[in-house]
Amino acid sequence: GKVLLTGGSGFIASHILDQLVDQGFNVVVTVRSEEKGQRIVDTYQGAAKENVSYVVVEDITKEGAFDAAVKSQPPFDYVIHTASPYHLNPQDPVKDFLDPAIKGTTGILHSINAHAPTVNRVVFTSSSAAILNPKQHADVYDETHWAPMTWDEALQPTNAYRASKIYAEQAAWKFVEVEQPGFDLATINNTYTFGPLQRHLSRLEAMNASNHRIRDLVQGKMKEALQPTAPVFTFVDVRDVAFAHVRALTVPEAGGSRFYVVGGHFSNKKIADVIRDAFPQLADRLPPRDAPDDFPEKVYRFDNAKSREVLGLEYTSFEKSVRDTVQSILDSGLLG
Ligand code: NDP
Repeated sequence: GKVLLTGGSGFIASHILDQLVDQGFNVVVTVRSEEKGQRIVDTYQGAAKENVSYVVVEDITKEGAFDAAVKSQPPFDYVIHTASPYHLNPQDPVKDFLDPAIKGTTGILHSINAHAPTVNRVVFTSSSAAILNPKQHADVYDETHWAPMTWDEALQPTNAYRASKIYAEQAAWKFVEVEQPGFDLATINNTYTFGPLQRHLSRLEAMNASNHRIRDLVQGKMKEALQPTAPVFTFVDVRDVAFAHVRALTVPEAGGSRFYVVGGHFSNKKIADVIRDAFPQLADRLPPRDAPDDFPEKVYRFDNAKSREVLGLEYTSFEKSVRDTVQSILDSGLLG
């Protein structure tokens, strides 16, 4: 099969791409520049390299931005849409988050519907942000939960990222309902994601947002004071997130479904403990072993049964996820 994967330069996308290539898919990634595309292709060798190519889509918010990218010879069977802003520096909520997330999503769905009739499934990377309600947490979350968010709230910079995911996912489901396109939709609502860095990363500052706390611990930035883990207390390993996307492409029953993809609970203190045990050479950069755990007494629970039963996910342990992330930071040679 042939897959269009948007946001190819991203952390999660790099793992999706690896798994797709391993399974023999032919993949075209979208990126914002030639340079980024070439860097990705260059991380593959031999036969794998022949199955990876890129197209440049400079501005996903433009009308018809994906029209050219969705046309391909041979034509696409599947699309995975991951491209969306995820950083912690909100300035203009509409321009920086809401527009690219919402217009990027409806835009690609329109382009597929109009120009890529062979596509039979689209998998959209949503987020647990579209499930959780931080104002009043449920006891146990699953795919039936939808995060509430008014447009006024969405316009507040501190809400902008979460709002962008909620509104983009809603827009995707609405598109399918209203347009009745020739493809069906599945969404992956993964929580805060840890895991090995993408191979083409050039500086630690450019590291994806959800690995920052592991990076900061390893850099000694929490030695004196452990930052609080709040407001996120659940993690998942990026390889599990990638597996969920790949399975959601081809498992027939996945069509029309959301999947809450979450591996377990964590705290920054627990991350520090795993790093200290696995990498004694980093111990003097970490907060002391007897620092108080920042994990709260009561925290929401999660039900990930659907992802295990329908997609066949077997979740990676917290310890392995943290160890492999730190090892990849060390292996990158970027730590200095
Ligand atoms: P990254 O920042 O590593 O990846 C984001 C990707 O989206 C990059 O390819 C980036 O391209 C692209 N992108 C960002 N803004 C734009 C834009 N305005 N126009 C075009 N492309 C853009 O983060 P992740 O890999 O973590 O995120 C990937 C997806 O997963 C996102 O949809 C995110 O919301 C979702 N997600 C992530 C979670 C996490 O904890 N990591 C949790 C739940 C969901 P470029 O390299 O050019 O900037």
